[in-house]
Amino acid sequence: MGNPVEHWLRRLSYPALQEIKKAMEEGNIDMLQSVEGRMQELEQQHNLFCSNCFGKINMDSTTTFTLVFGLSRARKKATFCALDCLTYFLENLKALKEDIEESIK
Ligand SMILES: [Zn+2]
Repeated sequence: MGNPVEHWLRRLSYPALQEIKKAMEEGNIDMLQSVEGRMQELEQQHNLFCSNCFGKINMDSTTTFTLVFGLSRARKKATFCALDCLTYFLENLKALKEDIEESIK
């Protein structure tokens, strides 16, 4: 897949690259805050709908679960509306992993 930053940079126009270069050289705090703000938005998106049944998540509910997984530099989160949805997801994940392991033997 290659470096995602390199892939992203290739999609930007020359003027956009100039603006980013200038911001980096000046230690632009606004740019840093924009990046951090967008990261927070993306981190919150997993909280909206159940990763299994796509039902709306009630974050005040005590039956809501969030699973954090993946590499430390690319953590992913999945939120579930109930224990049944979390269990179903994990069982499917286990079956999928077993299928993949079986297919590469
Ligand atoms: Zn659910």
